[in-house]
Amino acid sequence: MPEGHTLHRIARDLRAAFAGRVVSVSSPQGRFAAGAALLTDHEVVEARAHGKHLFVEFAGERVLHVHLGLIGSFTIDATAYVGERPVIGQVRCRIAGDRHVADLRGPMTCRVITPDEEAAVHHKLGPDPLRDSDGEPAWERIHRSRKSVAALLMEQQVLAGVGNVYRCEVLFRHRINPMTPGERLKRSSWDLIWADLRRLLPLGVATSRIVTVADEVAQIESALAKGEDVHLDERTSYVYKRTGQDCDRCGSIIKAKDVAGRNLYWCGNCQRRS
Ligand SMILES: [Zn+2]
Repeated sequence: MPEGHTLHRIARDLRAAFAGRVVSVSSPQGRFAAGAALLTDHEVVEARAHGKHLFVEFAGERVLHVHLGLIGSFTIDATAYVGERPVIGQVRCRIAGDRHVADLRGPMTCRVITPDEEAAVHHKLGPDPLRDSDGEPAWERIHRSRKSVAALLMEQQVLAGVGNVYRCEVLFRHRINPMTPGERLKRSSWDLIWADLRRLLPLGVATSRIVTVADEVAQIESALAKGEDVHLDERTSYVYKRTGQDCDRCGSIIKAKDVAGRNLYWCGNCQRRS
């Protein structure tokens, strides 16, 4: 499942490709034909994300609301690249401008809504580290809950945009025991989590990859500060998908367990803090 940085990256690319332009919108697959008819030949005003939800605002108070779900994708290519080739795969929605074409495939949600309906979606979501500077609404929910911090970090109404990889890695980075109930999580621990997500997620937007390991974080921050391109090898992580391997920090065996429907990975020796 894409995490929030993927949606913010798509919003950024849609904005760059289409904002201020009149576009044609179609549904090559047919399932979104009625919605596409409401949007086509209108100007794209803005594209924005909140957690895993994407909103493309069109002139005339019409908003395309997309949630990719588990398998969805939204690709944006130069028209010159796509050319006159036939549509590949089941394209639910195609946005075409004079220079770019964007194809949405396999979304869980693809519908046209009003600005009021968009506001209702935002209202149900917790703060997004890529969108909101204030994480207080998330803390308000976390410190009143008996659920584990590992479960709470995955709840989109608590915190929007964080998925399984960021959850596991950020808890490891601050040595926090993932099973700590929200009501027993220290305020200082939460402040570390929120500040770190505000630091790490933008690196995901910039590189299109989840970056959490300290030397890579430093390398990318340095490159971005200098405006250089960033090249990364295979994805690395501290604990994510490293079950049975040695912890880099202490040599203990990384464990895995189902928490909130997804495999939580952690080091029982390093992560003892509440
Ligand atoms: Zn360890």
